[in-house]
Amino acid sequence: MKIQVRLKPHFRKIRIIAQGFVMKKYLFLFLLPLSLFAHLNIAVSYPYIGALTKAIGGDHIETVVLAKGNWDPHFIVPRPSLIAKVRNADALIMNGGQLEIGWLPPLLNRAGNPKAMPNAASFLNLSHHVELINKPSVVDRKEGDIHPDGNPHFHLDPQNILVLADVIKKFLISIDGEHKAVYEKNYAEFLGMWQKKLGMWQEKMAGKKGLKVIQFHDNLAYFNKAYGLENIGTIEPLPGIPPSSKHTLEIIELIKKENPCCILHDVYHATKTAEFISEKTGIKIVLMPHDIEALEEIEDLSDLFEYLTGAIQ
Ligand SMILES: [Zn+2]
Repeated sequence: MKIQVRLKPHFRKIRIIAQGFVMKKYLFLFLLPLSLFAHLNIAVSYPYIGALTKAIGGDHIETVVLAKGNWDPHFIVPRPSLIAKVRNADALIMNGGQLEIGWLPPLLNRAGNPKAMPNAASFLNLSHHVELINKPSVVDRKEGDIHPDGNPHFHLDPQNILVLADVIKKFLISIDGEHKAVYEKNYAEFLGMWQKKLGMWQEKMAGKKGLKVIQFHDNLAYFNKAYGLENIGTIEPLPGIPPSSKHTLEIIELIKKENPCCILHDVYHATKTAEFISEKTGIKIVLMPHDIEALEEIEDLSDLFEYLTGAIQ
């Protein structure tokens, strides 16, 4: 039931004045330059890209991160909510190197957003700007090798973060030249901050050089290379292939022979096989987050490397 309230004449007058005031207020907003409100809405595949893009883009951009930091970055379910995020994006930044091959292409196709298509000027594939390591000499897709172009986890070398920050700065300038000075200033600040931290992390890791490690998946190829750790084996027989009993026994033998310090384990695979190996050999298991929010306490990029460089004791 609708209740009608009859306003007395002087109240009506007040209401008309108030409406006029509101209209004038909005008219004023329409007359302001559009750029004051226009934020570039940038969709990115992983949290680390979001953090880096926000650091350089500052107040002129909004980032929408598609994958959560505690998910396996290779296997993301292209849910409808993610399609909507891609559909509304003005630009898209991906890791590349086939890390998103199983989930981003179907998402982009379903979103049908020309600004978020690989041939668009507003699309950035970070892997095109980094040299990938550990390219397999023979790729057998039937065996499920998910690193056919080389290892795509290049952001875990903190030196590469600077390379990527520079690439993102240039990308933002290319799609939004109006704010070039802001992006350059934010980049310079980030560079200064990061270089100081690089020195600290280098010092923290100096004593670890030459340590042998086992991993579940070769997430830390670039981190290990940066700090002189030697990966001697993975619990996965091949990238993306679950552990087999034959391979697990081989790893146990390898550990007994080579005496690595620890198993560096990602946060999203079950640690069951690592625990079995640990029971047989006494080797330590160390959880190594691969991205922001992979563990609750990893809130930003600095936290991530602070954690990684302090994890191996
Ligand atoms: Zn991988």
